[in-house]
Order: sequence, then structure tokens, then C-alpha cells
Amino acid sequence: MTDEITPAKPVMGIGACLAGKAVRYNGQTKSPNDHVRSLGDAFQLRSFCPEMGIGMGVPRAPIHLVGGPEGVRALDVETHSRDYTDQLAAYASTVLELAPELCGYILVKGSPSCGYDRVKRYAGNGYGVASDQQGVFAAALGRADPLLPLEDDGRLNDPGLRESFVTRAYAYHDWKRLCADGLSAHKLIGFYSRYKYLVMAHHVPGYQTLGRMLADAGKRPLDELAADFASEFMGSLAQRATLRSHTNVLFHLAGYLKRSVPAQERQRLKDLIEQYRLGQIPLVVPLTMLKHHFANSPNAYIESQVFMAPYPDELKLRNLV
Ligand code: SF4
Repeated sequence: MTDEITPAKPVMGIGACLAGKAVRYNGQTKSPNDHVRSLGDAFQLRSFCPEMGIGMGVPRAPIHLVGGPEGVRALDVETHSRDYTDQLAAYASTVLELAPELCGYILVKGSPSCGYDRVKRYAGNGYGVASDQQGVFAAALGRADPLLPLEDDGRLNDPGLRESFVTRAYAYHDWKRLCADGLSAHKLIGFYSRYKYLVMAHHVPGYQTLGRMLADAGKRPLDELAADFASEFMGSLAQRATLRSHTNVLFHLAGYLKRSVPAQERQRLKDLIEQYRLGQIPLVVPLTMLKHHFANSPNAYIESQVFMAPYPDELKLRNLV
């Protein structure tokens, strides 16, 4: 894992302890699981340690979250006399300033600073009372950039969450590139045209809303339209794609082959899609067959669809049944 940035790959933030840096309170690292490791090939990783970033040093006194369900403070475990909450929260904006190109962030399970969710909460007497919090830095990062995809190393063990996270990170990278190039209503419509089937696979109502939004593109200030679009777009991709929703998209795509592929081969493709719908084979199987047909009967619109390859195949996120 490396902090070296090249523009070729999307840039992903990661908790520094997960990236092999000895920054935990006790001077240790945290071993990343295989799924976190595998993302190191698909993204440029840029690591941050909020606790080091606010000058806590290493080794340091550990902290934990103290308070009620409505609000907690990040206090030192030993005495509860040192409060790091505001500094840790403010560091989220620092990270976004240091790395405006971030397209996602891998948080650290269970950490009072970097945990995505279910972080332990303690009462004033030091007893653990619930696991119902986000880490202070993680929560502030979500508030500072609500579009930024966030997950932690534990949640990335779930294949569906992992696939969703990577899909959104690549899409957000693409969106940021579009904005950096200079946005226009025309470019926005072209962008969404490439994402239609991917959005449909995640959230049909979102797909419809985005279509309506862009139909009126010329009637609204571009900045306002782009902000609404980005929010709906990333929100739609955050919905979990299902066997059913993917099947729907596969059948739509197969419809483009009506004139170019013989009925017998189309039937074979339909059978594969049906097997996929029943959970008997992974998505990659009917998709490979579709790609094979579109290679023989090219269709520029389908080739442009991000659904066909939303992230590098090497991640094998579509290979699981
Ligand atoms: S969990 Fe976050 S604050 Fe703690 S050592 Fe890792 S990167 Fe630093």
C-alpha cells in the first residue's frame, strides 16, 4: 500500500494504521484484511491518522466516546479530563483540503475517531453502555462531504457493501473529474447518459428522478442543478443492487441484440440471465455473454455504459454467487 499519488487511479483515503503505519495509541499498526488489501490495487491510497493529525503523538493515552445516545465526547480513557472532540471533528475538513481528489474513504472498525458505526459508548463512570456511535472524525467527514463514500475495514467483508462502495467511489471519481473539466448542461446530460443502466440497477426511482431533472436542465441555474444531480446520483448508487434489479438491466441490454443476434443465441443468453436471477451463477457469466455479443455487434451507446465495467474486472466483485 502506498501514499504515492498518480492521476491514473482514483484516490481513496484510508486510516493510516490500516495502511501499515505504526500510528495506533500503542505504536502498533492494524492488519488490513484481504478485501482492504485488494483495494490497494484499484485505488491510489492516501492515508491519514486524525489522532496524529491533531498532535496527539505516539504512543499516547487512548481515548473513548463518553455520553448519551444524543451526543458523545472523545475523552481520554484514564481521567476523562482531556476532550479531543472538536479537534478530531475539525480534522475532517483538513483532510478534504489536503486531498480534494478523494473519491472514498476506508475507515477503521471500532475506533472512537475513525469507526464507521457501532463504536462503543461509555458512561461517565467508565462503563460501556452501548455500541451505537460513529467515530468523531468519521461522522465529521460524512457531514463535510455527504457524497463521499465511506466504509470501514470490517464492513468491507460484506460482498454487497464492498461492491457498492467500489462502484460509488469510481462514480464519484468520475463526477469529480467532470466537474474539474468544467461543467455544462450538455456535459451533464452526456455524463448521465453513460450511467443510466448502472443507476437503474441500483434504484429505479432515482433513475426516473434523474431523467426528469435533466429533461429540465436548461431551466435552472447550472450550479443548483449540478448539486441536486450529484446528491440524487450518489444517493441512488448507494442503494443496494439486487439479483432482481440486475436482471432487469440485463434484459434491457439484451433487448439491443434483437436484430443482430440469432434467436437461438438470444435464448441461450436469456437462460443465463434467468440462472443468474435464481442465484445459480454470478453476474459475470451473463455479462460476459452480453459483452461477447456486443463485441460481435458493436453498439456505441452500450459500449459507453458504465454498467458494463464500473470498476476494474480484477477486483472480481461480480464473480460471487
Ligand atoms: S483508527 Fe484512526 S485515529 Fe486510530 S490509529 Fe487508526 S487512523 Fe489513527
